[in-house]
Amino acid sequence: MVLKDSFGREIDYIRISLTDRCNLRCFYCMPEEGVKLFKREEILSLEEIEFLINFFYKYFSIKKIRFTGGEPLLRRGFENLVIEIKKNIPEIDINITTNGILIKEKVNFLKEYGIKVNLSLDTLNREKFKKITGFDFLDEIIEGIDLCIKLKVPLKINTVMLKGINDEEIFDLIEFSREKELIVRFIEYMPLSGNDNWKKFFISKKEIMEKIKEKYNIFYQEKEKIAENYILYDDKKFVTKVGFISTITEPFCDFCSRLRITSDGKIVLCLFDKTGYDLKEFLRPRIREKKLFDFILKTVKLKPEGFVALKKTFFDKGENVESFFVMRKIGG
Ligand code: SAM
Ligand code: SF4
Repeated sequence: MVLKDSFGREIDYIRISLTDRCNLRCFYCMPEEGVKLFKREEILSLEEIEFLINFFYKYFSIKKIRFTGGEPLLRRGFENLVIEIKKNIPEIDINITTNGILIKEKVNFLKEYGIKVNLSLDTLNREKFKKITGFDFLDEIIEGIDLCIKLKVPLKINTVMLKGINDEEIFDLIEFSREKELIVRFIEYMPLSGNDNWKKFFISKKEIMEKIKEKYNIFYQEKEKIAENYILYDDKKFVTKVGFISTITEPFCDFCSRLRITSDGKIVLCLFDKTGYDLKEFLRPRIREKKLFDFILKTVKLKPEGFVALKKTFFDKGENVESFFVMRKIGG
């Protein structure tokens, strides 16, 4: 059956956080004081994750999953998990969102199993990379990107735009996209827990577009799920394609087809929701499929309308809509 929420939105896509651990400390994703990590026993085991994917496929025809984190490639046993899933559901569409540090090591595996990669990269400047993430890994990541290109691993670059930090790099990022023949998607910074600096760093799609127009002609091309893609021309010469994911100024909640599962087994219905719905009680000490089925049907109906409903209060009254969740626990 098809999973539908109370607004009639069909849920066909699950994002699963494999771990809350990360090998970077992006200042906008991590509260300054750090986050308390889940204990090992709190985290879903690989068998439980595999069970859930098979379960969602069997009962709700879910055919697309995305592994995220923390940093998903840090999860020990990642490869075995993929192998087991593909054995049962060869046609499943597996995607990953990664910071790219471990891509070099995993690229052959990603290629072999047809995994599509969204790689998060906010800057091409080594010093700035250190400032944003706390570490000096830019070169490794660029090498990983080049390997993906060489092996033809499907790859998109996601860049969170941060005023005064990387907005001056917009033309470098466009040049990078042209040179590597990759799409770079500019993401609006979201006000989630752990980033009380949101207002200071937020820059809208409109502002970015205006900057781009100083140098290029820009034409709308297509809507691709949650992104809007544009083609850039320099005079009449094609330059590259770029995308925008503008959650704040143009929320895509009407088309939201996703459920999130945190690494400790909670369903998160929306990034801006305040509750997680625990799946573990249906998995431990033993799996209770019928109860889990009923629980999921019931829970999905609680999916809120989304940021679209909060936007008015947020912008008109300046009220805070910060999510209850820390991004690295739910994985974006
Ligand atoms: N560690 C992996 C990575 O960085 O790709 C996966 C998890 S990370 C939380 C997923 C994505 O969320 C990254 O692209 C990151 O830049 C983005 N992100 C984190 N906090 C954000 C925020 N407040 N607004 C917009 N995007 C955010
Ligand atoms: Fe950065 Fe992703 Fe790690 Fe957050 S989870 S600190 S965005 S690399």
